[in-house]
Amino acid sequence: MQGLMMDMPLLVSNLLRHAARHFPDVEIVSRRVEGDLHRYSYRDCHDRAARLADAFTKRGVHVGDRIATLAWNGYRHMEIYYAAAGLGGVVHTINPRLHPEQIAWIVNHSNDAYLAFDLTFVPIVEAIAAHCPNVRGWIAMCGRDRMPATTKIPNLLCYEELLAEGAEGYVWPELDERSACGLCYTSGTTGNPKGALYSHRSTVLHAYAAALPDAMGASARDSILPVVPMFHVNAWGLPYTAPLVGAKLVFPGPALDGKSIYELFESEKVTYSAGVPTVWLGLLQHVSANNLRFSTFRRTVIGGSACPPAMIRAFQEQYGVDVIHAWGMTEMSPLGTLSRLQNKHLDLPKEAQQKILEKQGHVIFGVDMKIVDDDGRELAWDGKAYGNLLVRGPWVVKEYFKGEGGDPLVYDAQGRGWFPTGDVATIDADGYMQITDRSKDVIKSGGEWISSIDLENLAIAHPAVAQAAVIGIAHPKWDERPLLVVVKKPGAEVTKDELIRFYEGKIAKWWTPDDVQFVDAIPLGATGKILKTRLRETFKDYRLPTA
Ligand code: ADP
Repeated sequence: MQGLMMDMPLLVSNLLRHAARHFPDVEIVSRRVEGDLHRYSYRDCHDRAARLADAFTKRGVHVGDRIATLAWNGYRHMEIYYAAAGLGGVVHTINPRLHPEQIAWIVNHSNDAYLAFDLTFVPIVEAIAAHCPNVRGWIAMCGRDRMPATTKIPNLLCYEELLAEGAEGYVWPELDERSACGLCYTSGTTGNPKGALYSHRSTVLHAYAAALPDAMGASARDSILPVVPMFHVNAWGLPYTAPLVGAKLVFPGPALDGKSIYELFESEKVTYSAGVPTVWLGLLQHVSANNLRFSTFRRTVIGGSACPPAMIRAFQEQYGVDVIHAWGMTEMSPLGTLSRLQNKHLDLPKEAQQKILEKQGHVIFGVDMKIVDDDGRELAWDGKAYGNLLVRGPWVVKEYFKGEGGDPLVYDAQGRGWFPTGDVATIDADGYMQITDRSKDVIKSGGEWISSIDLENLAIAHPAVAQAAVIGIAHPKWDERPLLVVVKKPGAEVTKDELIRFYEGKIAKWWTPDDVQFVDAIPLGATGKILKTRLRETFKDYRLPTA
């Protein structure tokens, strides 16, 4: 017997329509490339997104067509998200920090019909336009008065003029909820990037889950500023979660330095934010150097790479900001786990609570996970056994775009597919997962594994250390040994021996790095994570003193 409930597809357009109807005056504030602050409401955003969808449809954009973006977090980017997905197309966000050649490769692989770009990225578009013959129009995200004076971009369109081609009253189509709505390529640190193709259903379910109190805990009382870019796994779903709950949205545009972010936090009464660990270094430095406080900022999600415990403490103890440590990946839309306490943890001593909050966390409903050994046997949830982390769920990829890389899943005895994350982790008896390392970054020493994350977290807790990275260096006897690479804080002094001694008593002795190298900067990848591949390249001829 079938249930007798209305059969309404889960569609991305419904998120914005809901916000426009039920939170019409809630604001979206954006710092623009032009430098000024733009503000309007969910109703305005919806009406403009609908007009843009109409304009695209009139220009022959069909269901399934890709519309790409090279853009900062801002209201026009949000309009494209909803226009592209709402009409049945696919919003394809591209990371502008990738090399232009890689961007051109991605545009051609995706076969984007249009590409919209912020003015910051004119040089990238000029460099790639000639190599992307299938793009029908390059859309400068500005009004006529700001159009770039360039002859190197054929079929150059003005965003505001394009939008004006659309009529009012566009009706969002009732699509199949399983149809595609968004596309993100993984950063491709090994081999070519691969596309994760999200569906309306997966995106709406992820938005629901993200809003839960033990996930992002977003509500209509929040003013949310995603520092994480809309080109990094859809700003972790916040452009979908915020309208679902009716939260105010604050977009920082290109100004991601500590001072600019702090000013926006204060002027827009931001309560909630999200970003990778490296972006918070600038904010914390600015706030501490100028002796500032946050008036409304209370919680932030930090993920994308391991959040150092020292950063969690700094936020909490000095500024009263709760850090929600989260783990996920492009292939997971991205949320998998977040670390929040449970009822039974509330009476634990603060130190024990802290240890839980430092982990990558507990799954949210929808995602299941397990750890397995190299033969695929499931390992115990005892917080000690570590193995390959596998996940499944309705917002986890089952296959990459265009079948690249074949079938990525591994199958259990019931024939159910699991996605191998490439991460090595432990899971404790309460179901909290902790990442030991990425499997390609883990240091293999004498047949045992050393976690580069643990060594980095300890180093960053030293008062003289601004940034730390640990890589494995080939060793004739032990296979690999850890090398600690450090950027000192401005004006701070510390020696190699002091840093090595700093590890004493905190880890097994044989985990201690064999050497320390001081550098001016540690290379970061396109999403702000430490680029270990580049670091390994830099130190490829380096020999350990113990070798
Ligand atoms: P890429 O880094 O290749 O651009 P993703 O952004 O999808 O791709 O990165 C996903 C990976 O980032 C995870 O598989 C994991 O290795 C790492 N990661 C994400 N969050 C965390 C975290 N909180 N702690 C440790 N590692 C994390």
